[in-house]
Formats: sequence, C-alpha cells, structure tokens
Amino acid sequence: MSTSHVYRARRLRVVLDGRVLEGTVGRLDGQAAWVNAAAIASRWGARLDVGEDVLGWHDPRTGRTVVFRRGRAQAQLDGDGAVVALAASPDWSDGMLIFPADAVALAGGASVSVDTRAGVVFLTRPDPYLSSWRILLDPGHGGRDPGSSLGGGLVEKDLNLYVARRLGRLLKAAGAVVGLTRVSDVDLTAGDRCARARRFRAGMAVSIHHGLLLEASLQGAEAYFYRREDSRRLAASLAGALARGLQLPSRGVREANVGFLSCLSCPAAVTEAALPGDDDTLRKLNHPWGRIREALALLEGIRGFCSTARADGVVWGYPAP
Ligand SMILES: [Zn+2]
Repeated sequence: MSTSHVYRARRLRVVLDGRVLEGTVGRLDGQAAWVNAAAIASRWGARLDVGEDVLGWHDPRTGRTVVFRRGRAQAQLDGDGAVVALAASPDWSDGMLIFPADAVALAGGASVSVDTRAGVVFLTRPDPYLSSWRILLDPGHGGRDPGSSLGGGLVEKDLNLYVARRLGRLLKAAGAVVGLTRVSDVDLTAGDRCARARRFRAGMAVSIHHGLLLEASLQGAEAYFYRREDSRRLAASLAGALARGLQLPSRGVREANVGFLSCLSCPAAVTEAALPGDDDTLRKLNHPWGRIREALALLEGIRGFCSTARADGVVWGYPAP
C-alpha cells in the first residue's frame, strides 16, 4: 500500500490511553487503520531509531525493542527474537511514519481496537491506577422503562447502554475487571442491580443516566452519592470530568438515596448528564463520536478517583484476580 493511497482514505481519530490525540494522526482505509507512529511514540516517550530500511522502536515502559523492516508485514521482538505478523507493512517514506495500528500497538505494549463506524482507533496500555479495580457499570433503565425521551429518536436507556458498553471496553483495555448490570435492553429492578453488583464483588460502581432539561439554565453534569465519603469523592471526580468532556456546566454532586446507592458497600455514584433540549447537543449524542467522548470523560473521572485513592495509600477495591 502506498502512502498516497493512505492519504486519500478517511480521517481516523486516535484515542491514546483514553485521551484524544489531536492533529492529523490517522487514516482509515476500508477496514485497515493507519496511524502516525511518530506522534504516538512521542506521546509514549518511546525512542525511534530510523534507518533507511530498518526502524527500531524502544519502549521505556516495557523495556522492549521492536524492529520493523521496510516492505515486510512483520515485526521482530528483541530478547526472544520472536517474529510477529502485521496487518500491513509500516512505511516511513516522505518523513512521515505511517504504520498499521497493530504495529504501533505491538511496539507500545498496547491493545488496539478500531471502531470503523465512528472512525476511531483506540490504543490502550495497562493503567497502573485502574488495573487493581473491579468496576461495575450500570446502564440506567432498560426494557419497559425507557427513562427520559431525549428527542430526535434518542431514548435514555439506549444512550446509557451505549456509553456504559464503550466505557466498559476502555476500562478493560486499561486492565480493570469490569462487569455490567445489563448488556441488552432488559428490565431490571434496583434489587436486581444490587444483587448483580454483590455477585460481581464490585470494588466500585457507577450508574449512568441522562436527563433532558427544557430550561437551558439548568443544563449540566452532576453526580449523586449516598453517605460514604469515598462515594462523594468518586461522584465529584465524575461530575467534573463529565462537564469538561461534554462541555456542560458542572452542577457538582448531590447526596441522595437514588438507584442502588444505599445497598452497596463500595464507592458508588450515579452520573446524570442533563442535556439542554437543543438540537445541537442531541445531534452530538446521536453521533457515535459524541457518545465516545462521554465514555472517555467518565473514564477520566474514574481514573482521577483511582489515582487519588492510590496517593492516599487507600485501596478500596477488591484486588483483581
Ligand atoms: Zn435516568
């Protein structure tokens, strides 16, 4: 595949460890994802030795070197010398390092997944703050209970499920053990949700909701907690991250016995993105990228909470098996 062919393809967004990498960084050509390897290596602090026909990628985090040879759809790992097949040959002509996404994932010790519909590639390395947690996600409503009707054909129960599933995949890729109270459109009582959280042995639980406020002055992101100080901190981290990610005002946290909060013996919060009832916001969340942005915001909120928990020397979560 020539570089010019790559440039004609569709623009691909790159999400690196849960954060959007800005700039011209990726191309989607059919099902194949190509990324700007230099931009990613720089973000990861990797060292590249670029030669005429050989490129060495030294990753300080894994301590590993991966060698690519021009025109070969394979990579060689140092140490055991194993050779790994790639989706296509990396290309470093014209001063640009255009690599298949799987090559970069291999070099950086990351997992890779491509959402061709949304035009996003996710490259995720294990996260030391997240990898010791068992996290239960609870998409609000479901089945005969649709939740808020958000207009434009968007129903809250479906939006909650989409965001929770995407967030679950991101957390798993970062090393957390993840459970969901539901993975399809089914009825669940608060008691069912509690039982599932207990059976899962959740170390943290996050319930995801969306509302619709007709009065624009009341739009915003907020989160609920009940009684526990660790839950209040989790809720505050989520509300702040959600407001930043969706560019909504932060309405902070409220203490209330809602959903399954009172039955859990772990930090738990209910997030509520209260959308302004305008077409612009609904269009955003009707598009997969808008929903992915929300999942990324929640990931940031969870990570923020986990990093302060670690800094305090407190481990609330059950250790991952
Ligand atoms: Zn709701």
